[in-house]
Amino acid sequence: MKIGVLAERQPGETRVAISPDSVKAYVRRGANVAIEAGAGSGSFISDASFGEAGALVTSAEEAVKNADIILSVRRPTAAMLAGANSGALVIGLMDPYGDAAGIRALADAGLSVVSVELLPRITRAQSMDVLSSQANLAGYKAIIDAAGQFSRAFPIMMTAAGTVPPAKVFVMGAGVAGLQAIATARRLGAVVSATDVRAAAAEQVQSLGAKFIFVEGLKDAATQGGYAKELSEDDKSKQAVLIAEHIKTQDIIITTALIPGRPAPVLITKDMVETMKPGSIVVDLAVERGGNCALSQPGKIVQHRGVTIMGWENLPSRLAGNASMLYAKNLQNFLEIVISKEGALSINWDDEIIKATVVARGGKIVHPLLRKEPEAAS
Ligand code: NAD
Repeated sequence: MKIGVLAERQPGETRVAISPDSVKAYVRRGANVAIEAGAGSGSFISDASFGEAGALVTSAEEAVKNADIILSVRRPTAAMLAGANSGALVIGLMDPYGDAAGIRALADAGLSVVSVELLPRITRAQSMDVLSSQANLAGYKAIIDAAGQFSRAFPIMMTAAGTVPPAKVFVMGAGVAGLQAIATARRLGAVVSATDVRAAAAEQVQSLGAKFIFVEGLKDAATQGGYAKELSEDDKSKQAVLIAEHIKTQDIIITTALIPGRPAPVLITKDMVETMKPGSIVVDLAVERGGNCALSQPGKIVQHRGVTIMGWENLPSRLAGNASMLYAKNLQNFLEIVISKEGALSINWDDEIIKATVVARGGKIVHPLLRKEPEAAS
């Protein structure tokens, strides 16, 4: 069995889908691993270290030729995978809601496509959970970026020349990224508050030493899968009133609010930004899905009346060393369920994790969440 890995082609993508440790694990399982030369350079993993771990470091063409499994961070194009075995499993962040045509093209090329964003949040899949491993790093990096830009300090400081007050940080969306942002801001000494539409987030926020702010009378918007659903218009208005009041007093706002399969909810309007103190900062982690702040722009740092709105795309890529290591380990754990003890590709298509993540197979879009859109588009 052959596992192929290409260098990522997306601008700004510095991660790689395999690490020297995971190469060793695959080789131990009896697989041949072929990696495009330079694939690890954005994460400072040398070709030599992949070679020493047991991989063949080669051209892109050779890396995918006759591969049974292709590991990637972002969705590769069908042209990049020409030469892979028919029915080869392509595993990565496929952006299943964002680009139906791209997935359709891989299906048309006869590849089986696994979209790891769709991993179910069940105990057995926890070690494969790429969204969590990457969001955790993004939450940390958001605070570090904000601290780097902020004209003041985070912790309270008593000095002979006077007291430096602590920064006030407000985190919107207390999921994986939000909780790490809270923890990081607390470690730096900020006074932290947070909000979410899932009532269960309250305890987690409070356990990190932050104040939880919840819209009074709001119906808990948690789904069975542990994600949030969209609020009713009435609840949205109530939430907007609460946010408008609170953000006037804050120095730094980190927004992370997402709803699976939907555009990110706009939680901070232009008017609200205009009530913020000059020097304040918004870091919008939801920018790739439309943004939680009306003024944020993907990949840009926007200044508006003294407020800085940071719309970094792909924050995990800016911590590529850790991001690649964790992502590669997540995929390694996923491969445990598709490689047999004898080292052959062996997929139980009825497995809960496989059913949740396989989006295309046998030339068809097979995932119920996606089936309609691509068919209608073709
Ligand atoms: P996410 O990235 O989809 O969303 C980020 C956060 O935004 C969520 O907490 C969500 O409730 C919140 N949000 C959505 N709309 C909002 C709004 N209008 N206002 C304020 N907040 C809003 O979520 P996530 O980080 O992937 O995590 C979702 C949940 O899943 C969390 O409870 C997390 O702890 C849990 N989880 C479970 C597992 C598991 O394996 N059991 C693994 C990872 C995460």
